Amino acid sequence: MDVLEKRVPLRTVRAIIFDFDGTLAVLNIDFSLMRERVFDLIRRYGVNEDSIKERYLLEIIDEVYPIIWKNDPSSAKEFYEKAHQILHDVEMDAAREGKLIPRGKETLKSLRQRGIKVGIITRNCEEAVRKVFPEIDDYCDAFISRDSVENVKPHPGHLNSMLEALKVSGEDSIMVGDHLIDIQAGKIAGMITVGVLTGRIKRNEFEEAGADYVLKDANGICELVKE
Ligand SMILES: [Mg+2]
Repeated sequence: MDVLEKRVPLRTVRAIIFDFDGTLAVLNIDFSLMRERVFDLIRRYGVNEDSIKERYLLEIIDEVYPIIWKNDPSSAKEFYEKAHQILHDVEMDAAREGKLIPRGKETLKSLRQRGIKVGIITRNCEEAVRKVFPEIDDYCDAFISRDSVENVKPHPGHLNSMLEALKVSGEDSIMVGDHLIDIQAGKIAGMITVGVLTGRIKRNEFEEAGADYVLKDANGICELVKE
């Protein structure tokens, strides 16, 4: 309790923004298969993989695109489409087996009944999210997948679009996610950040990244914002 009181005046919270995969949903996206296929493609387009600086696939595709474009703009476009098709295929495979976390819907519903706005942001594609959560629009005030923004989180553009859509400021909002990207993105936007242990990131890693709170799962947020 002392930790709660020390950190933030939670009564002022106007919005809670959730990540989707690993936070609101149990989804086993095969990232190593995805990576393997994208890197195969990169090699086929003659790009030296050792020169790649970005860490995550979406950003890697954006990094490689202009390198190919310099020699041949039409191959660059073809590369981009093929790479995104790989991501989409692997994400849809996972979505067919995916499901929401137990009590996830109830959590979202109860927050909104208390007048707290709910947003959902994800680096996943919209189609895969809707496959797992067809009624998503009935449970949140805004949903922004990677298909609707130029740059995805941790780029500030993704969260800023969400804050704008919800008409709230970062200071009045909480970001909840299972990955360090979520914590980084939330901190850049000046939000309170909450890490959940339903993904691969451990408590100490969240603490090192500066998360304000670490919860067992996203349902714990109801208890956290209780007056
Ligand atoms: Mg996640």
